[in-house]
Amino acid sequence: MVRELTHFIGGKHTTGTSGLFADVYDPNTGAVQARVPLAGRADAEAAIADAEEAQREWGQWNPQRRARVLMRFLQLIEGERDSLARLLSAEHGKTVADAHGDLQRGLEVVEFAAGIPHLLKGEFTDSAGTGIDVHSLRAPLGVVAGITPFNFPAMIPLWKAAPALACGNAFILKPSERDPSVPLRLAELFLEAGLPPGVLNVVNGGKEAVDTLLEDPRVQALGFVGSTPIAAHIYATAAAHGKRAQCFGGAKNHMIVMPDADLDQAAEALIGAGYGSAGERCMAISVAVPVGEETADALVAKLKERIASLRIGTSDDPDADFGPLVSRDALDRVNRYVGIGVGEGAELVVDGRGFTLEGHENGFFAGASLFDRVTPAMRIYQEEIFGPVLCVARAADYESALRLPSEHPYGNGVAIFTRDGDTARDFTRRVNTGMVGVNVPIPVPVAYHTFGGWKRSGFGDLNQHGPDSIRFYTRTKTVTSRWPSGVKEGASFTMPTMG
Ligand code: NAD
Repeated sequence: MVRELTHFIGGKHTTGTSGLFADVYDPNTGAVQARVPLAGRADAEAAIADAEEAQREWGQWNPQRRARVLMRFLQLIEGERDSLARLLSAEHGKTVADAHGDLQRGLEVVEFAAGIPHLLKGEFTDSAGTGIDVHSLRAPLGVVAGITPFNFPAMIPLWKAAPALACGNAFILKPSERDPSVPLRLAELFLEAGLPPGVLNVVNGGKEAVDTLLEDPRVQALGFVGSTPIAAHIYATAAAHGKRAQCFGGAKNHMIVMPDADLDQAAEALIGAGYGSAGERCMAISVAVPVGEETADALVAKLKERIASLRIGTSDDPDADFGPLVSRDALDRVNRYVGIGVGEGAELVVDGRGFTLEGHENGFFAGASLFDRVTPAMRIYQEEIFGPVLCVARAADYESALRLPSEHPYGNGVAIFTRDGDTARDFTRRVNTGMVGVNVPIPVPVAYHTFGGWKRSGFGDLNQHGPDSIRFYTRTKTVTSRWPSGVKEGASFTMPTMG
């Protein structure tokens, strides 16, 4: 049976007025499991108008009262963790265990945002001049919007919604049309937790919905996560409309393996970070850089052996290491890239094309692929494949290894595996990348630090979550005040100074 999904506007479910729908697939079988409405301009505008109205009151709530809504939301989630993870896994294709991680990483940002009374405190200077005090306060922006990708349908909506709401904004979420059920359920739970209707609206759709959010003057800021061409387009268009924007794009994350690294540990880390979630993570490692031929030969041998024991299964198979890709398009793209790599002369050590899971022949399954002797001139090195394909780019020495991620157009995450503190320290200081792991393959920062890549992986000056998110979702007002005991002086015609 095909479920019919909705938008969630003003605390109510609606299919909107566009009459357009997109199919939501079961990646395990390739069958359509739901239909999601695609908002037209009128639907998105209805959500904006509703949010603008609701924000007026929400923005006046004191921060502690707003924090209580987030705390109640966290309590409500406790009763639903497993069902949410299963729902997420069934539309995305990642395993249920991995879906739990997706949700958990999102909830940690809700926990961070529940500290909003403290986070919103301004600055105060007593007696900046005689009888003059200066203080700053952080005001909400009003209506803000978030456009999120398919690959973390719980985590990324929560990374955006929680700080935005805590700061007193109304938030319009435009989740990926490929797996919209979890974002919708999260919005229902926020309502149940006491969020006034309209403060969080979910508008499903594609380009038309996003264009409306970009162009409407009532939307003050946009947060985007997805592929780089769309991130760049949204950043430029938002700026052209006078809006604040933070847009995070694609990645090509490298992992340097030094000759002194524990190779078993490094190989296990590469297998998990390269093939986990079928490689559909912006922090997946897609390029391994062993330093020296001996390290490379030993590493490739270990990877090849380990890949042979990987278990690819349906997303609800508790023993599966990873499940299917999200769509047939994604599967075709991955297979196409493996063909491109062969054509470019890379050595295909393990070929994941043509993998089928018995009983699920129409599912979107890709096997794990491993390339060796990949060079920077190749497209499989330069472009994001976003699937279970790991490229080994051999480096002759440390300096050439350091150059690879530093000169790559993407700059999301990077890792180094070594036992040498001096090498690790030098690497973390010099590498031209936003997030660095030392013997940690997926260095996603914790909720109270900030997350964001450099170069073509991130557009804008403020990162997601952590203190940057509070800055992004508020504007600073600075107040200079004087309470004279009487009118002692007349007008002053020179620039006021405090000296
Ligand atoms: P995508 O760019 O196709 O879609 C992202 C969002 O943009 C979706 O909500 C989609 O509906 C919308 N969209 C798509 N085309 C649009 C258009 N022409 N105009 C306006 N909006 C449009 O990305 P995806 O396939 O959902 O997600 C995978 C990508 O996201 C990968 O490139 C991955 O690296 C990236 N990603 C980056 C991060 C990060 O933090 N840097 C995190 C997760 C995912």
